Amino acid sequence: TQRFVEPLSGAGRIVNSYENARASGERIVDLVERPVSVRDRADAVRPERVEGRVEYDDVHFAYLPGRPVVEGLSFAGEPGETIAFVGPTGAGKSTAAKLLLRLYDVDGGAIRIDGIDVRDLALDALRSNVGYVSQDVFLFDGTVRENIAYGAFEADDEAVVAAARAAEAHDFVRNLPDGYDTRVGERGVKLSGGQRQRISIARAVLQDPAVLVLDEATSAVDTETEVLIQRALDRLTADRTTLVIAHRLSTIRDAEGIVVLEEGRVVERGTHDDLLAAGGLYSTLWSVQAGERATDAVLDRLLRAD
Ligand code: ATP
Repeated sequence: TQRFVEPLSGAGRIVNSYENARASGERIVDLVERPVSVRDRADAVRPERVEGRVEYDDVHFAYLPGRPVVEGLSFAGEPGETIAFVGPTGAGKSTAAKLLLRLYDVDGGAIRIDGIDVRDLALDALRSNVGYVSQDVFLFDGTVRENIAYGAFEADDEAVVAAARAAEAHDFVRNLPDGYDTRVGERGVKLSGGQRQRISIARAVLQDPAVLVLDEATSAVDTETEVLIQRALDRLTADRTTLVIAHRLSTIRDAEGIVVLEEGRVVERGTHDDLLAAGGLYSTLWSVQAGERATDAVLDRLLRAD
């Protein structure tokens, strides 16, 4: 089946719907580009409260016919747990996570939140209960304050600042030319990857969803920023079901479940200790990254000594 994507660029669509939503006082708009094939069912449900149990049940997905990207993925995460997707580049980690956000619909199997198929949930209910944090978060042309309060239009200044503090963003925001009133986005101040990540965390803190999809940063940040971001993420993910697309294995040692993907298939699963003991792909990736961490530490010391 052909997948149609709305011809309007994602950014344009989001800005328009943001402006419209703001004008009409609506609560929330889409954070992400979504193919038009993904839409509400006539009898879509809006659960009153979501505990955050997440279940992938034999999930299959392909962007293009005959080119499967996710093949038979199954796992379950209890409310509050962290489940990590790990694997080589192109293994299908991001795709598997995007299916939970319903950026695409599964071709086979099902994804359930609290036992409800995500295709039966109203999209606005899905959006308000499943947060998304990433470095490539979309910042629209508006102030920092508006970008943090995105989707939570009733949030007052105090709540925005509290969220920014929890996200370790307050200090850098204060130092921008106009503080929280600084314009960002295409026509505003350009923020670094680490700053965007923290704006995205602040948004999620305000949103306070039961389930979080966390796309770990890939672009480099300095050690100090890394520590700040990790601290903010630890706060954000505590007591929230979190699906992590993990690039740095050191951040997911304590995850309740680690799912190792290779070419769309689960090749291993378990905790960090289980997987190290198993001596398979995960332990190889771990050794490689441990080597990289050691090199980084040496470089860091040399640079500081300068
Ligand atoms: P990385 O660690 O590099 O982010 P990943 O494990 O997250 O990789 P995905 O981004 O999910 O992997 O990609 C899985 C496969 O699907 C890759 O072969 C990729 O080229 C392909 N793919 C990803 N997005 C699309 C898309 N929008 N259309 C077509 N193919 C895609």
